[in-house]
Amino acid sequence: MVGKVAPNTQVWFGDQVLPVSHAGLYVFGLARNAAPEVTVKTQFDSDPVVQTLVVQQRIYAEQKINGLPAKKVNPEPKVRLRINADNSKIGAVRASLTQAEWLAQPWILPVDGRISGVYGARRILNGVPKSPHNGVDIAAPAGTPIVAPIAGQVALVHEDMFYTGKTIMLDHGLGVTW
Ligand SMILES: [Zn+2]
Repeated sequence: MVGKVAPNTQVWFGDQVLPVSHAGLYVFGLARNAAPEVTVKTQFDSDPVVQTLVVQQRIYAEQKINGLPAKKVNPEPKVRLRINADNSKIGAVRASLTQAEWLAQPWILPVDGRISGVYGARRILNGVPKSPHNGVDIAAPAGTPIVAPIAGQVALVHEDMFYTGKTIMLDHGLGVTW
């Protein structure tokens, strides 16, 4: 959710202080199982204004994937080191709070293709329940050009991460990265 306020307004999502861009943009995301009501509080120079937003719980699909190599489902200890190194690089990008105004733009899909994995799906890999899917997968032939969904800056390029293979992360500002 992207919002706009007068510059120098303070904004809270629940108890969390949100960064506000120079132009007054702020952004927050709803967790997979967000509370049925969330609040956004804004304060400029007088009393704070609290808005309550009603969140409709989505029913998530279950995605069973079988026949995966066992070492991808339950990595060996030495592979854990590589996964941890990947995760700390990803974590560093996600911690970024780049000051930018890009989030005011409309978003487009990065590529046309079949949606092969939906957000939030509970994943059962080789019969073992795993954490839910945190993204949207779009299938396209190798070599298909992919565009950024909105302007941003390239924050990470990795040739071969354990879970995601060739990986690019974009930073769209105010903590929105992917
Ligand atoms: Zn995925």
